[in-house]
Amino acid sequence: MTAALSPSLDTRSGSADPQRILQEVFGYDRFRGPQQAIVEHVVAGGDALVLMPTGGGKSLCYQIPAIARQRAGLGVTIVVSPLIALMHDQVGALHEAGVSAAFLNSTLDWTETQDVERRLARGEITLLYAAPERVTTPRFLALLDGLRERGRLALFAIDEAHCVSQWGHDFRPEYRGLTVLHERYPGVPRIALTATADDLTRADIVERLQLQDAGRFVSSFDRPNIRYAIVEKKDVTTQLLRFIEAEHPGDAGVVYCQSRKRVEELAQTLADAGIHALPYHAGLDAALRQRHQDRFLREEGVVMVATIAFGMGIDKPDVRFVAHVDMPKNIEGYYQETGRAGRDGAAADAWMAYGLQDVVNQARMIDESPAEGDFKQVMRGKLDALLALAEATDCRRVRLLDYFGEASTPCGNCDNCLNPPEVWDGTDAARKLLSTIYWIKKQSGIGFGAGHIMDILRGKATDKTAQYGHDKLSTFGLGAEFSEAQLRGVLRQLIATGALHVNAEAYNTLQLTDGSRAVLKGEVPVRLRASISAPAARKPRRERGGSGGKAASPAAASLDAAAQARFAALKSWRAEVAREHNLPAYVIFHDATLAAIAERDPRTIGDLQGVSGIGAKKLEAYGDEVLRVCNG
Ligand code: ADP
Ligand code: ZN
Repeated sequence: MTAALSPSLDTRSGSADPQRILQEVFGYDRFRGPQQAIVEHVVAGGDALVLMPTGGGKSLCYQIPAIARQRAGLGVTIVVSPLIALMHDQVGALHEAGVSAAFLNSTLDWTETQDVERRLARGEITLLYAAPERVTTPRFLALLDGLRERGRLALFAIDEAHCVSQWGHDFRPEYRGLTVLHERYPGVPRIALTATADDLTRADIVERLQLQDAGRFVSSFDRPNIRYAIVEKKDVTTQLLRFIEAEHPGDAGVVYCQSRKRVEELAQTLADAGIHALPYHAGLDAALRQRHQDRFLREEGVVMVATIAFGMGIDKPDVRFVAHVDMPKNIEGYYQETGRAGRDGAAADAWMAYGLQDVVNQARMIDESPAEGDFKQVMRGKLDALLALAEATDCRRVRLLDYFGEASTPCGNCDNCLNPPEVWDGTDAARKLLSTIYWIKKQSGIGFGAGHIMDILRGKATDKTAQYGHDKLSTFGLGAEFSEAQLRGVLRQLIATGALHVNAEAYNTLQLTDGSRAVLKGEVPVRLRASISAPAARKPRRERGGSGGKAASPAAASLDAAAQARFAALKSWRAEVAREHNLPAYVIFHDATLAAIAERDPRTIGDLQGVSGIGAKKLEAYGDEVLRVCNG
């Protein structure tokens, strides 16, 4: 807990000009996208709702106003965040930049808590991180009252604001209690930030947090360095292994699974294959979970195999891939999870395998949930949008951005753009499948599952076809020319588009819907990816730099041999410092910053000035050592 309690190294005095703070404290030249407008708005005391994709740079949007308002004598900024397990590192990162910060949460003992409270009351803290359940306690509110009376409550930053909405994918009921902030402290500005931005969630945030009059800042949600690919699921474990071995040997990544059991199995399989993989899910002991998270953040090349319990707030910049071996619930979740790749702006992959079973499972989970009808309908609509994305034969990114209300043109960096899939006309197969379902229902009075229906159409005699006399049906063997994979693809798309319903209450039997008729009549064509059963064409590999073997850091790809050596020396020095400070290495310096230093071949402190990512405090703390490492 030293980071939380170490005496402030402080930048509480100095210029309150945002541009100066950006350069001095964070070592960056210029604001990105709408950052400047947001910062100016909040520094001036306005409320703001910030919608920016993961990796877009949300933290500076409240950290710079916090520093500016502190320097203007307005006091502390309270950062509300659900991420207790990350607060230590977040505060540590601010300390590294010379900003006085602290956190209050359940990991602190009584004395530590009192110490933070005392420093808070004395006005020594610029940013205080706390979880929502803490912020709304009478004890904490009494502290805030005291600060408010003395005009020392500068700003509320509500991070991960989508947690307030049940439509978001991380609903936290405690967030609802945050209404107390604007009711009790009406004059204190608030900035709410999220990377989730479908209309429903957005509207909910505005309403729940009463941000109707807040300035709205919506960034582009595009993450151009992430390459999206969605593949047909066959033997997903093998597919995943091949993907990692071919594209990301030695890289850090996240693999998302639906169930805890699957997480454990897959982590073991990857580990057996020599991949540095660790499991993470809510069923693991909290201490073990924290240890795995720390290793993912602190060590290089760890692959975290996880449920969605993992990842919110993870700001590791060099995650090179995010893989989904099971389909998520909706596009918001998918986009948020894949967005954890490539925050450093270097090339990264979002890879998902998806199959008929995913569609069936997700549809069933919605059907079986105890939620109200309207809620189910919304969930179903969201699932449909994701299914349409998975089935798409055109640009994935265009569809993703369209979902977030952004128009764009084909990206050239997704599977469909890079290898346009051949399309085959599945209309005939679809009509035959639907009429088989119709006829067996008529004949036997009950529905059947996908496997049996495909058997009938392909003319495969089984005990079941004999038992029900389905080998006498007129459609028996009528689709012998189709492979099972093809029919599976057709069924998946029929379910995805609502032309078929999977009845979870009756053994996952397939039922016709109102939407079936148009397909049966041939009014709605069914177009499918032809590559479904063909082996996937190899996609062109990106330049990774380095000299083969283990992948080199993309940040250092363009360095010459001497600079590569400096880069390597700087990295091992950084690892040392990070260990001493108990922080992830990237909190000390990003790879890109080390690469820039290595390239400059610095001889004097002056040579280090202006390198992106070196602020005044880091220059003072590390400048001499960096020079020694480079010239050693
Ligand atoms: P978010 O919270 O939106 O996911 P972060 O605030 O973690 O994103 O920022 C993502 C990365 O971009 C961080 O490594 C951060 O240091 C960097 N970054 C943010 N703003 C700038 C900027 N103006 N110039 C350079 N780097 C920036
Ligand atoms: Zn594309």
